[in-house]
Amino acid sequence: MAAVERTLSIIKPDAVSKGATGAILSRFEDAGLSILALKKIRLSEEQARGFYAVHKERPFYSDLVEFMSSGAVVVSVLEGPDAVSRHRDLLGPTNSNEAPKGTIRGDFGTDIERNAGHGSDAPETARIEIAYFFNATEILAPVAALPA
Ligand code: GDP
Repeated sequence: MAAVERTLSIIKPDAVSKGATGAILSRFEDAGLSILALKKIRLSEEQARGFYAVHKERPFYSDLVEFMSSGAVVVSVLEGPDAVSRHRDLLGPTNSNEAPKGTIRGDFGTDIERNAGHGSDAPETARIEIAYFFNATEILAPVAALPA
């Protein structure tokens, strides 16, 4: 049976600025992922640098930091069976130009950098990334699991 996992999702500035936030959040829920926490924020360059610190030696790091702090992002915690891989399947491959239609990056992304969304790559990474943006008190159980 699939393990129930949590993952961190970021709708990136390109997708937020084109008005795709609602459409993308619907895809998560339609795929059986519950939204446990959600906020719209603008990352400072320092926050973007910290979030992507793992890529700091890569040639695209400074462009990526500039892009991620260029406008609002919508950050959420998603929970569901195999949430990490299910969410990354919804995103599609990193390069939007290679992402099939029907995936979030295929439908809303532009290129390898402006690719509409981020998703944690493993449950361990998800724990670190979720804590980067949310306190424990900001993460709620799915509504269906709350007592009446
Ligand atoms: P992801 O897990 O699919 O998001 O891909 P990575 O962890 O490899 O890269 C992180 C983010 O860096 C991607 O989502 C892109 O926004 C950006 N990125 C990755 N590769 C490149 C690249 O070759 N050039 C540029 N400009 N950005 C890239």
